[in-house]
Amino acid sequence: MILQDQIALVTGGSRGIGRAIVLKLAQSGAKVAFVYRGNQAAAESLVQEIQQFGGTALALQGDVALPETAKKVTDQVFASWGKIDILVNNAGIIRDGLFISMEPEAWNAVIQTNLGGVYYFCQAVAYPMMRQRAGRIINISSVAAEHVNKGQCNYSASKGAVNSFTRGLAVELAARGVTVNAVAPGFIETDMSEAVRNMAGDFIEKKLIPMRRLGSPNDIAEAVLFLASPAASYVTGQIITVDGGLSLGAVSP
Ligand code: NDP
Repeated sequence: MILQDQIALVTGGSRGIGRAIVLKLAQSGAKVAFVYRGNQAAAESLVQEIQQFGGTALALQGDVALPETAKKVTDQVFASWGKIDILVNNAGIIRDGLFISMEPEAWNAVIQTNLGGVYYFCQAVAYPMMRQRAGRIINISSVAAEHVNKGQCNYSASKGAVNSFTRGLAVELAARGVTVNAVAPGFIETDMSEAVRNMAGDFIEKKLIPMRRLGSPNDIAEAVLFLASPAASYVTGQIITVDGGLSLGAVSP
């Protein structure tokens, strides 16, 4: 298997895109630890699903927005399995609302989770990965980093910063064999996008996405697997958009 003997850590692994990434990495032979915030039932059922096909998974509760979580979680993974080869920073939230009435709580929660969490987890694995002269860091960004929507100033700012951070860290870690990339999803069918999908009806698929379908969590997991695999060993500092053509900006008549 392509990720045999690899150890992966995925944040926000209990649901949606993160869950698909955890499954994909485990199906590819990696032992996978994942962080969830509150949904213990979803986390436990994912561990069971992975065990049923002979894979190995570890669910760890923690809030990525808190500075202490990354060290606590990575210490647990190092204690269990001795190393971390692949880090996927996937945990993310939205607190949408027009800027004019955006409370500091909505700003801080999004920035702390989507950007702070990436910083804390990268900081926790960077030195160990540099020492082992190998590692893959994959940040889940969004097309909203570049193609903004009303009511998402905080979210777009956080994802734009994730893109810039990805490029900056890639430069710093490249000589030590550690790659840092991001995947920027378009509209993906998860709990996060449910409210917007319900509001927009089929307008998004019919008019905005040239491929005429929403993305599935697995579409994103496939891109993550590529970046984690030997096939991507010479790819670093890149933002790979996976959106069915949404960001091309062509509105269908
Ligand atoms: P979901 O809301 O469906 O799932 C979010 C996951 O992240 C859950 O596992 C949740 O855990 C976890 N999580 C949320 N906040 C925290 C936190 N503070 N600490 C630890 N875990 C946390 O989101 P998606 O799967 O849709 O999104 C995943 C990523 O993809 C995000 O970064 C998002 O910004 C990005 N994205 C999503 C798009 C989409 O259309 N869905 C489009 C573009 C980007 P729990 O189950 O315990 O709540």
